[in-house]
Amino acid sequence: MMSKPFCRKCLLDSLDEDEFIRSLKGYISSYPKDKRCSEEEYKRRLEICKECKQLSFGMCTLCGCYVELRALKINTFCPDSVDHWEI
Ligand code: SF4
Repeated sequence: MMSKPFCRKCLLDSLDEDEFIRSLKGYISSYPKDKRCSEEEYKRRLEICKECKQLSFGMCTLCGCYVELRALKINTFCPDSVDHWEI
């Protein structure tokens, strides 16, 4: 069965949670290679996020980003007052 396309204009209230997560994971996996940090750096950042008190359900509570997407980008940083990724 074909799934319903992800609606970019929907509010959370009207989203199918499974479809939303699938769509987010698809976006992450298709993110352009030339804009991604190395796999090693990506894993390092996520290990730091996993230990951080600001992580909640995959989202950084300081910036509202899904960390698996934010950490993927080359020119990004941890939004805390002390950048945990640079320590
Ligand atoms: S991005 Fe920084 S503040 Fe946010 S969860 Fe990761 S380590 Fe914590």
